[in-house]
Amino acid sequence: MKAFEIIKFGSNLLKEKQIPSSILDSELLLSKILNKTREEILVNLNQNINKKNIYTFKKYLERRCKNEPIAYILKEKEFWSKKFNVNKFTLIPRPETELLVEELFKIYSGKKLTILDIGTGSGCIIISLLAGLKDSTGIGIDISKNAILVAKKNAFKYKLNNRVKFINKSFQNIFAKKFDLIVCNPPYIERKDLKNLSDDIKKYEPRMALDGGNDGLDLIKKVIYKSKDILKIKGTLALEIGNGQIKKVSKILIYNNFRIKNVIKDYKNNIRCVLACYKR
Ligand code: GLN
Repeated sequence: MKAFEIIKFGSNLLKEKQIPSSILDSELLLSKILNKTREEILVNLNQNINKKNIYTFKKYLERRCKNEPIAYILKEKEFWSKKFNVNKFTLIPRPETELLVEELFKIYSGKKLTILDIGTGSGCIIISLLAGLKDSTGIGIDISKNAILVAKKNAFKYKLNNRVKFINKSFQNIFAKKFDLIVCNPPYIERKDLKNLSDDIKKYEPRMALDGGNDGLDLIKKVIYKSKDILKIKGTLALEIGNGQIKKVSKILIYNNFRIKNVIKDYKNNIRCVLACYKR
């Protein structure tokens, strides 16, 4: 079979199963198997694909047909121009979270910071930040041991393991360490809404990384309280939040002596992140 035939075969099957982006996904799966970029595949669509590769392609296709996210099949996701290892123990990095990273670079470029990333997952946020802030150091924590293994792998890949430590613990168990910046993309989805998520997310992404409790604010509240103890004076807490949560989150922040510095809107014009400075 030739590349264009197998791509067509794959995209037809995915379309039948109502998987969006069926053509792109089919191309990406073949690229992965041939260890080439998608562009390299597209300029050589007449190449023959051997039996073994066709077999693997079909296996991948089966997984995608069951709604497994393409990132888990490819084992990677691009975030802020870097490819991060991901697996079922880590949330797939989202473009919305890149907006947070972008904003933090606007504020802190060239600065020397000590950063804490709470619920680091694949480590995408802290690794991206430290790659750009060359004098800074940080700690990424996560209660998932398996996520920490992934984050460590990513730090190693980008040669940042000398400036970032990944630790398998809860933020509740961080004491006496003072940070200039705490970043956190917490689980913030209301428990009753979890069932409405798309199958890709619901069936495959770690529930622990999504479930924000009854009002979606369980973790957000706890992170705000804890940050008061471990931020330096005038330190900043940068939080990603869910749709419509800004009012409640602002209230909690102000009540806890934070001053809101900045909010960031996402591509759909929802307030997605909030940056707040601790006044004490
Ligand atoms: N910090 C990681 C990310 O932004 C994981 C977030 C999470 O698991 N809620 O992708």
